[in-house]
Amino acid sequence: MSEPKLSPETIAISAGRPPITKDGSLNPNISLSSTFHAGGELGYGRSGNETWSALESAISELEGGQTLAFASGNAAISAVFHLLPIGAPVVASDQGYSGCMAMLHSFQESGRLEVRFVDIANTDAVIAAMNGAAFLWLESPTNPGLEVADMPTLIVAARNLSVGVGVDNTFATPLIQNPLAMGADIVMHSVTKYFAGHSDVIMGSLSTKMPALHSRLHEIRKIHGGIPGPYEAWLALRGLRTFPLRFEKAQENALELAKRLSKHPGVSRVRYPGLPEDSQHDRAKSFMRGFGAVVSFEVKDGPEKAERICENSKLITHATSLGGIESLWERRRRWPAESTLTPENLIRFSVGCENVEDLWRDVEQAFANS
Ligand SMILES: *Cc1c(COP(=O)(O)O)cnc(C)c1O
Repeated sequence: MSEPKLSPETIAISAGRPPITKDGSLNPNISLSSTFHAGGELGYGRSGNETWSALESAISELEGGQTLAFASGNAAISAVFHLLPIGAPVVASDQGYSGCMAMLHSFQESGRLEVRFVDIANTDAVIAAMNGAAFLWLESPTNPGLEVADMPTLIVAARNLSVGVGVDNTFATPLIQNPLAMGADIVMHSVTKYFAGHSDVIMGSLSTKMPALHSRLHEIRKIHGGIPGPYEAWLALRGLRTFPLRFEKAQENALELAKRLSKHPGVSRVRYPGLPEDSQHDRAKSFMRGFGAVVSFEVKDGPEKAERICENSKLITHATSLGGIESLWERRRRWPAESTLTPENLIRFSVGCENVEDLWRDVEQAFANS
């Protein structure tokens, strides 16, 4: 008889612990060795260590696959594309995390890959582009547009066309969608964000159910060397212990702030799939168990005003990144690499776990004083 499946909030707390021995540590040790005594599986520090393994096994249980930790989310994405032969046709969203977009554009320009950029929310267009493609890269909801791909439909279509599927699950997290259970080959995380959760570490991960794919990705990590530090892995696992608590709270705050922002006279549009009037709501509701904790909104009076609002917050930090316990916001187009499909007046608001009334007062005063 198989053990009953633990829920994610329990897994986050109990997974990746060392075996129980008398006076044994409750937490994994930080493995500060670049090499190991001969005769074992690891041999050298670029292959693995006990601290990575602890973090990896916790993410594995959450995502339902076998996991590899990487030096950053981008190092993880890069390893995925290195699975593909030169010139392989890849379908990807025309807007998404700017660091991934920059990588795809550079692969396109060098001829490393043939990237077919599509509107990921347009299911028919994505399916048409998959004809003859090798791989589909999905990020959903997208950063920062919060577009939702019809993942169940697209993954089934990809399977039927023998197109491999990788999903960046950073925004949704395994608490609200499980791409491997839907049939995706690989799920990727910027561990930097909700998993680590304290804006103090940069790391990434890849998980897959397929042992052969896991071995190939392990080999790419070892050869290309995109490995995390053991201390970072330890910090990420420490952060992961409270990830479900933080995510639930941040998500609750995000929904409330999205509702209030949509009634604010200084806001022309709010993007949050949890709002019933959002164009992505029905689709999101059909297969997601929540809507995440990032809210993007457009400022009626334009980009200069949006920039001033970000500069004038007192509690919300004006900074890039997301997924930390503290709230951050920024005008995304301040970055030259951001897609021109992202409006100039769009603020990406990573909602944290502060008291929601304190956050709302800060939003209101930032608008009023800008
Ligand atoms: C931040 C982010 C990444 C990149 O992760 P790093 O850890 O910064 O390298 C990839 N995808 C999404 C959706 C992100 O938000």
